[in-house]
Amino acid sequence: MNHKIIDLAKQFRISVIHDGTFPIEDQYQEYLLRLLQAEAEKREERSLAERLRQARFPAFKSFDEFDTDFQKGVTRKELQLLEKLEWLDALFNLILIGPPGTGKTHIALAVGNKAAREGYRVAFSSMDNLIHVLKTREISKKSAGRLGWIKKCDLLIIDELGYLPVSRAEANFFFALVSELHEKASIIITSNKGFDGWAELLGDAILATALLDRLTHRCQILNFTDESYRLANRMQIFDNNQI
Ligand code: ADP
Ligand code: MG
Repeated sequence: MNHKIIDLAKQFRISVIHDGTFPIEDQYQEYLLRLLQAEAEKREERSLAERLRQARFPAFKSFDEFDTDFQKGVTRKELQLLEKLEWLDALFNLILIGPPGTGKTHIALAVGNKAAREGYRVAFSSMDNLIHVLKTREISKKSAGRLGWIKKCDLLIIDELGYLPVSRAEANFFFALVSELHEKASIIITSNKGFDGWAELLGDAILATALLDRLTHRCQILNFTDESYRLANRMQIFDNNQI
């Protein structure tokens, strides 16, 4: 029998096909193969849609749209390496540091989108929302469900660490999550603050050191220091020259 039929029958656990209990006559093999392939495609489409839904990306961003002439903190070649996603299999983390509007979230979303399309489970969350989910997991089914997905994902993207203060208890929750994911998943963090600022934010230098120790063990850090892309490409309702 066609080995593709056997592989698909195994994948779908139709044992009577692949163990030979139900022989398929030659004239039906092509038809059956097409049927199984159509089902495989449909399932792949559904699981991609589900991965994209669970990821909760706030927007679509791609690597192609990213202008490395404008942002000197990352080269085209480095972007290509990031895009290959091999670093996800090697469980590397990525930390993007820089002022607002410099493309940190753009890169995080481009990685996330590519990863979800290639079959990785991804979760995108702002730091605020992540803290909320961690704090309410015992009283909210929604939070518990979200945390369930986060804990089984291959890539967790934490956006905007550093904008809002974090209490001691929240910092501990956050540390516990990072420790749990450490060496199981990759983490991307975007932040407007450097590592010194993280210690201040978490309100505990020892905790911050332990956190950075885990996060930076296998990690690429990119510093984006240029001017804001948003400001440079600002659009206005009124064109100044015309008024
Ligand atoms: P940050 O997360 O650093 O505050 P964003 O990634 O949200 O900044 O970028 C702000 C906006 O500018 C987004 O719409 C993003 O797509 C765009 N942008 C920023 N940097 C670049 C760049 N180098 N090339 C193309 N678009 C960019
Ligand atoms: Mg951002």
